[in-house]
Amino acid sequence: MTRVINFSAGPAVLPEAVLTQAADEMLDWHGSGQSVMEMSHRGDEYMAIHAQAEADLRELMAIPNNYKVLFMQGGATAQFAMVPINLLRGKGGADYIDTGEWSKKALKEAQLFCAVNVAASAKDRQYTYIPDPSAWRLDADAAYVHICTNETIGGVEYHWTPDTGDVPLVADMSSTILSRPIDVSRYGLIYAGAQKNIGPAGLTLVIVREDLIGQAVPTPPSFCSYAVCAEHGSMYNTPPTYAIYIAGLVFQWLKKQGGLEAIEVQNARKAALLYDYIDASGFFRNPVEPTQRSRMNVPFTLSDPSLDAAFLEGAKARHLIQLKGHRSVGGMRASIYNAMPIESVRALVDYMQDFVASHG
Ligand SMILES: *Cc1c(COP(=O)(O)O)cnc(C)c1O
Repeated sequence: MTRVINFSAGPAVLPEAVLTQAADEMLDWHGSGQSVMEMSHRGDEYMAIHAQAEADLRELMAIPNNYKVLFMQGGATAQFAMVPINLLRGKGGADYIDTGEWSKKALKEAQLFCAVNVAASAKDRQYTYIPDPSAWRLDADAAYVHICTNETIGGVEYHWTPDTGDVPLVADMSSTILSRPIDVSRYGLIYAGAQKNIGPAGLTLVIVREDLIGQAVPTPPSFCSYAVCAEHGSMYNTPPTYAIYIAGLVFQWLKKQGGLEAIEVQNARKAALLYDYIDASGFFRNPVEPTQRSRMNVPFTLSDPSLDAAFLEGAKARHLIQLKGHRSVGGMRASIYNAMPIESVRALVDYMQDFVASHG
């Protein structure tokens, strides 16, 4: 068996140790005589898996006690609507910082529910930077300020946390969650689809400060309500049990790596290896403001785009897959999430060097 080196932006690479353990436990989880997929979500076995996953996540991210952890479904896309549905709290509008494709999608969806104030936008420079917070035109009466802390497509990442005073900060962390320690208490709400840095698609994580729950207007459908989800311990209806089980294994794997401080060191090393080579190559190019480059998603272009197809073909021959850039920006993109070992990033850089030697 040859395992590929998978640079997909999501669903994405998972730690091999997690896949092996899941395979070992597939037919008979801990002597229960059944697969986790087959378990009743109300049964003791699954309830223990669910509780452990939440406890490990709380420990990893040091989530304060006044925050709820919700295991939801519908992807980050569902949160684009659920955030305004639940957090408007009688206010008329919300502030959005527009740093790329995912910010745009979030704010477009919010426009269905409220007045959206685009307090800052990086559109003027093709979404290659984060507008300086001193220039954000924030509304003191906004229900919340929404940011996307890592633009998965553009490869722009916040390496700092904005200060929005008393207005709750809401962050789409789909492609950066668990890649580094963050101070959860600085945020009112954090959400993330699982398929980038957590586990299988189908699970959506929401971390929300308790005082922001329960003021949704108008009365939302039950499955869209943070209050209903929180009251029922993420089991108002059947949760994505197998996805939560795998996420739980990933949380345990992260703890074994030394937690988020240790994984951040790895992630910084991996990103530096790739960006340093790109910058030095004279052939590949990344357009993002250097201090705001994403550690998770690295878009790059070839100096001669007519070589794109040859680049991808040669990569595939070395089992380096999913390097094609998003259709909206073109070029290439290497996603190097937590589960991507540094050796795999080195294999990519080696290939890029060889490609330049033979085509540059
Ligand atoms: C992938 C992604 C989304 C969309 O996630 P879905 O689970 O497909 O809804 C939203 N925001 C960011 C930052 C993403 O990376």
